[in-house]
Amino acid sequence: MGVKRVAVIGAGAAGLSAARHLVADPARFSCTVFEQTGAVGGTWVYTDQVGTDEFGLPVHSSMYKSLRTNLPKEVMGFPDFPIPEQERSYLPAKDILQFLNDYADHFHVRERVRFYHHVKSVTPKDGGGWTIVTLDLRSKQLQSEEFDAVMVCNGHYHKPFMPALPGVDTFQGQSLHSHDYRTPEAFQGRNVVVIGAGPSGMDLCLEVARGGAASVVLSHHWPEPIKTQFPDNVRQAPDVARMSEREAHFTDGTSAPCDMLFYCTGYLYSFPFLSEECRVRVVDNHVQPLYKHLVHIDYPTLALVGLPFYVCANSLFDLQARFFLRTLTGEVTLPSRQDMLADTEREMEARRARGMKRRQAHMMGPMQGDYYSELAALGNLEPLPAVLTRLHNESSKRFLEDLVNYREDVYKILDNDNYIKAN
Ligand code: FAD
Repeated sequence: MGVKRVAVIGAGAAGLSAARHLVADPARFSCTVFEQTGAVGGTWVYTDQVGTDEFGLPVHSSMYKSLRTNLPKEVMGFPDFPIPEQERSYLPAKDILQFLNDYADHFHVRERVRFYHHVKSVTPKDGGGWTIVTLDLRSKQLQSEEFDAVMVCNGHYHKPFMPALPGVDTFQGQSLHSHDYRTPEAFQGRNVVVIGAGPSGMDLCLEVARGGAASVVLSHHWPEPIKTQFPDNVRQAPDVARMSEREAHFTDGTSAPCDMLFYCTGYLYSFPFLSEECRVRVVDNHVQPLYKHLVHIDYPTLALVGLPFYVCANSLFDLQARFFLRTLTGEVTLPSRQDMLADTEREMEARRARGMKRRQAHMMGPMQGDYYSELAALGNLEPLPAVLTRLHNESSKRFLEDLVNYREDVYKILDNDNYIKAN
């Protein structure tokens, strides 16, 4: 086998991890990372900008100024590059960004990154391989290059999902999606309705309530009210049934004054640069046709890295990258197309049996440990320690129980299976 030319799209945590393993094996791979911004770190790069950037591209990062991680640093490292010991477990975003920069330098990845290169299209070539067209945002030059394999690492927290609320056209107040949220000033004195109680909705509900909002209603479709102590100016409500000029009306018949509608409704998978010929379909946020949420079943030299959510992200990226590279070298043989399709269908059936919706096709949470073990076994790879999953689950539980204080918890990992709460 000659040296395989591999393109990585994006220099966030997933792209860095992919590149780290490519760079480590120069006898078998060459590595080119295309990054449209001037920095590594992806969504961890805070910017005051919203809307479009200086090149007219949609601002990628969804980071807000005050963010502290919602997972302890003990589960946020890479398997071969943990986050260094320190007093706290839940770190500010700037520390994670510094960590990703340290990772890029430690593994000599930065030199492989072509900054300010926006990938415009990825197209399969007849007979195998890929053509990638990039735009150098500074020189405005278009360039077409050929690669043997492509690892798509463009993230999935940048294209906002906005549900259509009945009556929203008549609403006279302001609307904002969490993607464009940076600081709480605009919420002072406002009657806010936060839609969605995922990690961002919960966190931002707390932030704007503490930041001087007059009232905050957290509207969500959890079956029960969330059992955590919110500040006094917060109440919970079920879904919005309709909006009127200055009010939100909920499905339980109650209403609330509203002059700020805050969509914390999540994001959509989006791969605008994948040409039609790539045959990647996103149906109700289910990306297909993929084997193990990663490898394109019809084009196995194309991988979409990092799609699963509610995971130990950096460890997952590392595991997926290692698995995919083994399929490229031939150390791992993928099943036949029919068997990969059947395997995917079996998994989706199992998810349906658990009551999961299609839009949760890539959600891991309690299933993450099984996914990691399976990928490691199939790839004959070092498995991820079980303690990661255990601590992730513990942190998610604490987040729901005690939103205000859970970030003061401090953890220490003892071994592959055990951790202690150290405070
Ligand atoms: P990204 O970080 O989004 O990086 C994608 C990169 O691709 C970007 O640099 C982008 O510029 C580039 N790119 C995109 N399109 C193109 C193109 N066409 N051409 C060239 N380059 C392109 N995870 C945790 O584990 N703990 C947390 O506490 C946590 N908090 C979060 C808080 C917020 C507000 C958000 C939005 C996410 C959070 N996450 C958290 C999840 C986080 O997104 C992942 O952990 C991870 O950093 C995602 O990495 P990524 O590389 O997949 O994507």
